Amino acid sequence: MSESNYDHEVDLLIVGAGPAGLYAAYYAGFRALSVVVVDSLTEPGGQLAALYPEKAIYDVGGIPSILGRELAADLYRQAQTYNPTFLLGHGANALSTLDDGTLTVGTDTGLLIHTKAILVTAGIGIFTPRRLPVGQEYEGVGVRYFVPDPKALRDKRVLVVGGGDSAVDYALMLEGVAASVTVVHRRPDFRAHEASVEKMRSSSVRILTPYQVSGMEGAGRVEAVEITNHDSGEIERHEVDEVVAALGFIAELGPLLGWGMTLSQRHIVVDTTMATNLPRIFAAGDITEYPGKVRLISVGLGEAATAVNNATVVIDPARKLFPGHSSDPAKQPG
Ligand code: FAD
Repeated sequence: MSESNYDHEVDLLIVGAGPAGLYAAYYAGFRALSVVVVDSLTEPGGQLAALYPEKAIYDVGGIPSILGRELAADLYRQAQTYNPTFLLGHGANALSTLDDGTLTVGTDTGLLIHTKAILVTAGIGIFTPRRLPVGQEYEGVGVRYFVPDPKALRDKRVLVVGGGDSAVDYALMLEGVAASVTVVHRRPDFRAHEASVEKMRSSSVRILTPYQVSGMEGAGRVEAVEITNHDSGEIERHEVDEVVAALGFIAELGPLLGWGMTLSQRHIVVDTTMATNLPRIFAAGDITEYPGKVRLISVGLGEAATAVNNATVVIDPARKLFPGHSSDPAKQPG
């Protein structure tokens, strides 16, 4: 294949836009590397955005307290300092090594990326949202799995589906922002944290249990939802503007398992430079394994910096490992 047939050609491909991948994207820009970041999710932030957007995090250095979605947004903003290319909604799939040692990765959406090195920051793997049994034709036009910013649903009539932490957290987050919030859950009891459920029960959120979403209608976008009572079979119709399907995610390493990296219990074994056993492929964040590994955001950020600096030297042996200080006026962006 000629070079012109690649959709993207970069120094570094980062697989995963969770905290480790986002910070790595910033860091690679700081090292003047061209970067593509792929993530199978349509929103950046990894577990922070997908699993606990409304939970407060207290153990990231220098930040006394921050919500998951706020940290994801800040990391994304920092990552954009050097304008990397984000391919959100694209999963890394097949890996090939070319004769000169450089690599190509095909995405599950049919893109082909040529890169001099890869940093795998795939966390616990590809998250696939658990889908509603109906209404998939309205995804993106009234049905969503994420609410990265509650303001997007300001003054809308919102129906949240689910009984876990994300459903209850989303309902609480949207109360007071949306015109109305209704939660539909197929069981009378919620799996979410007890204190959050109590808060929801004493709020203006309307709770409908045990109901299941059984139909959706609307011309071009969702206008109404039909729900069926699990016990009585009774059907109700509710006019809504947005449906938030918060039914959780399934995570799996998927195609990365076939790349030939040494694994230990579904984690990638790395050395102290964050290199995997495969030339030009590094890993950082929750996905790595080495003696003494601790899976925390702060650790993943440090690993990302180590991985990017070591990848820089592999990409261009003339470069130094130590990046210099970002506080150095000569090194500041722009
Ligand atoms: P992830 O956040 O898992 O991101 C990986 C990304 O890679 C995902 O977006 C995924 O879609 C993508 N991906 C995977 N495979 C592919 C592929 N093949 N192609 C494209 N994209 C792919 N840590 C703390 O330090 N403090 C806390 O207070 C804290 N609280 C937590 C609370 C909960 C409820 C949970 C679940 C975790 C918490 N953690 C906390 C852990 C923290 O969230 C993780 O350590 C962190 O998210 C790991 O970041 P990561 O970038 O390595 O991976």
